Amino acid sequence: MSTILMKTENLVVGYGGRPVLNGVNIELRHNEILCLIGHNGAGKTTLIKALFGLLPRQGGQILLDGRPLYHIEPRQLTIAGVSLVPEGRGIFPGLTVAEIMKVGMWATGVPAAQREERVEWVLSILPMMRAFYHRRAGTLSGGQQQMVSIGRALLRQPRCLLMDEPSIGLAPKLFQDLLGPIRELQQRTGMAILLVEQNVKEALKISDRVVAMKSGSIICETVPAKLQDNGTLMALY
Ligand code: ATP
Repeated sequence: MSTILMKTENLVVGYGGRPVLNGVNIELRHNEILCLIGHNGAGKTTLIKALFGLLPRQGGQILLDGRPLYHIEPRQLTIAGVSLVPEGRGIFPGLTVAEIMKVGMWATGVPAAQREERVEWVLSILPMMRAFYHRRAGTLSGGQQQMVSIGRALLRQPRCLLMDEPSIGLAPKLFQDLLGPIRELQQRTGMAILLVEQNVKEALKISDRVVAMKSGSIICETVPAKLQDNGTLMALY
């Protein structure tokens, strides 16, 4: 089996015909957290959305398991084992967490007979969710809402998770509470995770490789240990 799960080749994506990604080449491997960093507006969200089929390609290719994807759409990606944790949580404030999970299972096609067991599995990974499982999402803290968003993305037991700034708006000390369990799950299962983060210091602690993006292009690919001094990191922004 190839070590590469998802790959882009000269990917061009933009808005209204204007390119934002200028021929991006990245590889997401099995059993790794790949951290994608870059300045505001660099194109990180655009890349994640394109990988999940939420934005059309203007050029280049996206490959999954070595095969090019032609008509990429979220449902096809979900079935293939790819889940998205979108920027800004994307959860319905008026629903309880239990209801959000129910809708999530229906939307991602978890068979009815497996639903109860699947929720228990998600709660075993994120046990803190039990404390607010019957509360409306709109009454939860930012960190709790992020946890719900991650829990929902796990319902399909994905082999690949695309995470767009899961810790946004949270104090750095909450980062490990939120993402520590996901790192453990990833290491246990061999899942591949593409993690977009502004909270770079914390994100690098749980990542295996890093790519930096600047103005729609990948400018650096390295390992976290090489970015330990602030000067090297700052030069990428
Ligand atoms: P941040 O870290 O601030 O979230 P980012 O690296 O995720 O930034 P993107 O959100 O991908 O950056 O934006 C890349 C560029 O595309 C920016 O110049 C942005 O203004 C532009 N852009 C993003 N969304 C749209 C849109 N819906 N329509 C037009 N331009 C957009």
